[in-house]
Amino acid sequence: MSELLLSGGTVHTLDDDRRVAEAVLFRDGRVAAVGDTETVDAAATDPELIDLDGRTVLPGFNDAHTHVFSVGIGLLETDLSAADDREEALELLAENADSTPAGEWVLGFQYDESTWPAGGRDYLTKGELDAVSEAHPIVAVRVDGHSATLNSRALEAVDFSGVEHDVRTEGGEPTGRVVEDATGRVRAASYPDVPKAREALDAAIDRYHELGVTSIQTVAGLTRVREHGYVQQEALFAHWREDDLDLRTTFYVPQWQAESLSDLEIASGFGDEWLRIGGLKTFSDGSIGSETAKTHREYAGGGRGEMVNDREQLREWFARAARTNQQIATHAIGGEAIDVVIDEYERALAEYDDGFDPRLRIEHAELATDEAIERMADLGIVASMQPNFLQWNGDDGLYENRLGDDVRPENNRYREMLDADVPLAFGSDKMPPGPLYGMSFAVESPYESQRLTVDEALAAYTRGAAYAEFQEAEKGVLEPGRFGDAVVLDADPYENPDSFDEIAVELTVLNGDVVYDGR
Ligand SMILES: [Zn+2]
Repeated sequence: MSELLLSGGTVHTLDDDRRVAEAVLFRDGRVAAVGDTETVDAAATDPELIDLDGRTVLPGFNDAHTHVFSVGIGLLETDLSAADDREEALELLAENADSTPAGEWVLGFQYDESTWPAGGRDYLTKGELDAVSEAHPIVAVRVDGHSATLNSRALEAVDFSGVEHDVRTEGGEPTGRVVEDATGRVRAASYPDVPKAREALDAAIDRYHELGVTSIQTVAGLTRVREHGYVQQEALFAHWREDDLDLRTTFYVPQWQAESLSDLEIASGFGDEWLRIGGLKTFSDGSIGSETAKTHREYAGGGRGEMVNDREQLREWFARAARTNQQIATHAIGGEAIDVVIDEYERALAEYDDGFDPRLRIEHAELATDEAIERMADLGIVASMQPNFLQWNGDDGLYENRLGDDVRPENNRYREMLDADVPLAFGSDKMPPGPLYGMSFAVESPYESQRLTVDEALAAYTRGAAYAEFQEAEKGVLEPGRFGDAVVLDADPYENPDSFDEIAVELTVLNGDVVYDGR
């Protein structure tokens, strides 16, 4: 029997009555007791004891939408989100090139030109990357993962046959910018092997522990890495088999495996407490940053974006998933894409087994209209949203620059989702991962349509996220019988609504064990 007792602090159980306790006892991976110090002490036999010294305990955070390998690869390669302007981004890539043997890939992730000083906000160019090095293939992937810039050497190294439409050209010559499917080819060429994927997974797991995250829902991207199977899946299953997956993981299977998934009759929830199959992940449109989200409004650069899969394709996938009672998580950002997905979800819902609510999910739902929000509520569609996206909703920020000033109160309407009774789950989409950072935006938003209370934000990152993956009986609440997953903070978010993102994670407890100690 193994016991861990945390006492002498404030324990927010997040149960239905929002009970607050002083101590919590974990036994053999589960919560054994929670309450006042005396009662919980009495329930313990021979516990490892940690004095909270006034600290705050919450259920472990659950990132409802992430790309765990991108988190890990970003940690192992160059993180361009740290660059304050394009010169700095190029310097970081040059440092990487200096320490990389000639001919090997130099990879940069998370570059975000929209945050750079005015006058320097164009996408990175092929010429700039050629100037960094012509001896290495170099790729800089944009923060949204939907587009990238390549140098000449990288353009030669990637096979774009079949996806030429996503390789941007000028006068017949590739500009170095690629979007959507072509971005996937870049990742396939530059990151193909399992040992490297497992290294990335380890790095991501450590990072998540530091952030107080004990569960993730990792959704497949658009990248098809090879004809059969999937390197990232192989890495996940290898970690699971060897008991190295120290993060409760629900995996949403990529759209190109829709057929295999339903041929195996795999229903949502298959797996164990460490690795489960959530269901199918599909895409409907692109992103606002890359001006590829399918919107009702016109972009500053013209056009209204594009569907990456049309209505008929989505219908076919949804019908297949419905026949085998699989949950579906569909990426939809622009208002028009969201409308199409809701239409097709409504049609598919009739085909699930009677009495089974598949909790169909819309990922992002950034530009949902009033009508779409109402329909989501009526159909029980889960809004899987990312409060950290509001980092782009400031003055002169990406939302305003791409779609006009009046879009600022009309994107990411978490408040209006909750008010309409749409189930809300929070995640990070790894931009960057970090629940406290993310929630600070929803709590502090100047727009009523987006602003949540501390309790609502915390619930979306715990209980709401658990609901989105059918795990609300196990996760999201600290009460006896639940998974022993918790986070200990140096300050109480309920008491510090204006300085949320200054709160530090001090301990992370997973399965009743301390997996991170930052004290
Ligand atoms: Zn995503």
